[in-house]
Amino acid sequence: MEKVVILGSGPAGLTAALYTARAFLSPLVIEGPQAGGQLTTTTDVDNFPGFPKGVTGPELIEFMREQVLRFGTRFETRVVEKVSVDKGVIKITCDGGNPIDTRTLIVASGASARYLGLPSEKALMGQGVSACATCDGFFFKDKEIVVVGGGDTAIEEALFLTRFGSKVTIIHRRDTLRASKIMQERARTNKKISFLWNKEVVEVRDVAAGRVTGVRLRDTVDGSMSEYPCQGFFLGIGHTPNSSFLEGVVERDPNGYIKTFGGSRTSVPGLFAAGDVQDPVYRQAITAAGSGCMAAMDAERYLESLSEPE
Ligand code: NDP
Repeated sequence: MEKVVILGSGPAGLTAALYTARAFLSPLVIEGPQAGGQLTTTTDVDNFPGFPKGVTGPELIEFMREQVLRFGTRFETRVVEKVSVDKGVIKITCDGGNPIDTRTLIVASGASARYLGLPSEKALMGQGVSACATCDGFFFKDKEIVVVGGGDTAIEEALFLTRFGSKVTIIHRRDTLRASKIMQERARTNKKISFLWNKEVVEVRDVAAGRVTGVRLRDTVDGSMSEYPCQGFFLGIGHTPNSSFLEGVVERDPNGYIKTFGGSRTSVPGLFAAGDVQDPVYRQAITAAGSGCMAAMDAERYLESLSEPE
């Protein structure tokens, strides 16, 4: 029986691992298909304290990983399919191997990029459609690229894509951006970036050609239709929490975020949540790390309470 299992190896999971490892709880970290989480697909991180010159997302994760390995954290790469709870034992069923029994589980499984849900978008995935500029930007050298969204993700993607594309157009469904002022300023002063306001994408073209050649747009103010050429189509419209494997097990809000009560405790004793999977508001690397620390301390106290005499 494990004492602490942590799902996820982003800043929340790795911080939870650091604290529980240093408390001699020998945590097991299960990392899924995207080890390291969303930070591994970001570029420069300028807002994580302690790095006066900034640090890249992958570097930051590598440093955290090195740190937790020093204290004996174990890692396994598996995809969790189901979690069940019976008489204080949490059972984790994965895609392969034996189920894992544990006294506490810290869910830090993060969130994944959202798509618009258009059939054409799905059909052209990997043929010009992407939600990861750092992964795929390189393939769009001297090409015309559009980015959908008006938040920090969209702006960050657009700025990064200017390294490759000849022109980057941000398509937003309103006429004001949600992104932070500093990011807005960077985008507005970048000569390669332009904006299309009040437009929603209704189709990515051209499925018949098997590659992206443009988008069909509907004006959200007057309903008029138009087309806009591009060879790259990037999504920057936010994220969905990775919590579907907990359906019916733990309380979640209507968008799938795990509900926490006073720190990292959830509706299930022994099950704690940290990072983006429980945070629809802040979603920063530093807040994820902070909540990972809280989850570790809550799990430690919970384990202590189990061994206290009645
Ligand atoms: P946000 O929720 O902030 O923004 C999502 C954007 O996508 C909004 O502009 C929204 O439009 C638009 N959108 C959502 N759904 C659709 C849709 N179906 N069709 C068209 N447009 C859509 O998500 P982000 O991922 O940008 O940011 C999340 C958090 O992460 C924020 O706190 C942000 O500050 C942070 N972040 C910070 C970064 C940094 O500091 N470097 C980098 C990236 C993220 P509308 O505005 O109309 O709702």
